Amino acid sequence: MKLVLRGHHLLCLKGFQGYGYDEEFTKNMTLINSKRKQDDTTVTLTSSPDDICSACPNLIGDVCENTQQNDEIISMDREVLKKLDPSQEYNAVKLFEKIDEIFNTNESVSKICFDCKWHEKCLFYQKLSNNR
Ligand code: SF4
Repeated sequence: MKLVLRGHHLLCLKGFQGYGYDEEFTKNMTLINSKRKQDDTTVTLTSSPDDICSACPNLIGDVCENTQQNDEIISMDREVLKKLDPSQEYNAVKLFEKIDEIFNTNESVSKICFDCKWHEKCLFYQKLSNNR
């Protein structure tokens, strides 16, 4: 199984606990969250619409909501991608282990997660906040 994931969605998947924009989105995210835990899954990284965006009601063409929102999302992706190698196809399990090692403090996600509206539902963010 091959997944295409945008940078910041690696963190979203770590924090996912079944919430989303609508039923189709949540169903798709649940499926991807289960695939990314399988050892035979590989992940290609992007800062464009990915396998999660494809079921999202906010995606209009290739744009997330509007130009301003889209630019903010891309800059979040780039913050994650600059710690990884986007030219590489990663083993999914190893990639998410790497994410745990790199993004393990509040400071490490400050440019990515601080303005996110999903804080209350995100296990990843809550865990980091509790470790402060
Ligand atoms: S379209 Fe935007 S809101 Fe929807 S999943 Fe993609 S980045 Fe998130």
